[in-house]
Amino acid sequence: TAAVLGILLIVLWVLAVFRVSQRQLSFSAELTNAIKNGNITVAYQPIVDLSTGRCHGAEALARWQREDGEIISPDLFIPVAEKSNSIHKLTLLVIKRVVEEMGQLLATHDQFSININLSAQDLEHPLIALELKHILDSAKLPASAIKFEITERALVNHEDSRKLISKLRRRGHQMAIDDFGTGYSSLSYLETFELDTLKLDKAFVDAIETHAVTSSVIVHIIEMAKSLELDMVAEGIESAHQVQWLANNGVQRGQGYYYSKPLTAAEFLKYHAKQR
Ligand code: C2E
Ligand code: MG
Ligand code: MG
Ligand code: MG
Repeated sequence: TAAVLGILLIVLWVLAVFRVSQRQLSFSAELTNAIKNGNITVAYQPIVDLSTGRCHGAEALARWQREDGEIISPDLFIPVAEKSNSIHKLTLLVIKRVVEEMGQLLATHDQFSININLSAQDLEHPLIALELKHILDSAKLPASAIKFEITERALVNHEDSRKLISKLRRRGHQMAIDDFGTGYSSLSYLETFELDTLKLDKAFVDAIETHAVTSSVIVHIIEMAKSLELDMVAEGIESAHQVQWLANNGVQRGQGYYYSKPLTAAEFLKYHAKQR
């Protein structure tokens, strides 16, 4: 009976594993379809000058609305898109959406720009720079209209990343390192990439409030950014106290629910129009 029980357990286990992978397969297949059919929308979160409160840019954040209306967080579907090799299509879709929805605003405000997130795989894609140029050229937008965000994780030991970053910068795009402080903590690699902006991760901004880590860590990051001639954007600002602390310590810009949650294109255009 022990052997029978053992076999039974193995069969049950195999079935369970099969069902999980089935579910993952359908999730990923559904996502691939959504990307193919353009069922991805973009939300825009204002990036604000901390001392003046003025908005000179926004971050484009992908949203997937499923057939049943459920909105899936990019934290859940970006990794799936990366695994199933559809991230490149998704990135191009986001860029096209941004150009469609914000093209007018970008063309008429040369101080205004939109940030787009690139994933590690985008950096290794040989055609991305060319495709990008094509989209911007056909919309008659200068490269300075679009900035790119890359996470620390995507930068580590990639010669491809270095080359692409350099190429995009030569073209006139600004490059930001995203979620700074959460990834590989060796700071020396920062020097080896041509970057313009350091985005301080929300975890540090949270710590200003809770004192979970001493704020001296943030002061050191700010010093380092200065010495590398990077400007700074603080992420996830939720209180006036955080704004004051960051501004007093020399951080120029920030984004977060304190200013605005990510908005639909129509909401963002209204938000932007209202402040002038
Ligand atoms: P991220 O690039 O660091 O974007 C900031 C995230 O923090 C956004 O989450 C935003 O909604 C959230 N956030 C902003 N302010 C606050 C705040 O005050 N409080 C809190 N609690 N959260 C705040 P979201 O939109 O869910 O995006 C999650 C991540 O997914 C992004 O993190 C980014 O890494 C990735 N992502 C989003 N869109 C794209 C995309 O088009 N391509 C790629 N490759 N990644 C994307
Ligand atoms: Mg980002
Ligand atoms: Mg970030
Ligand atoms: Mg983040």
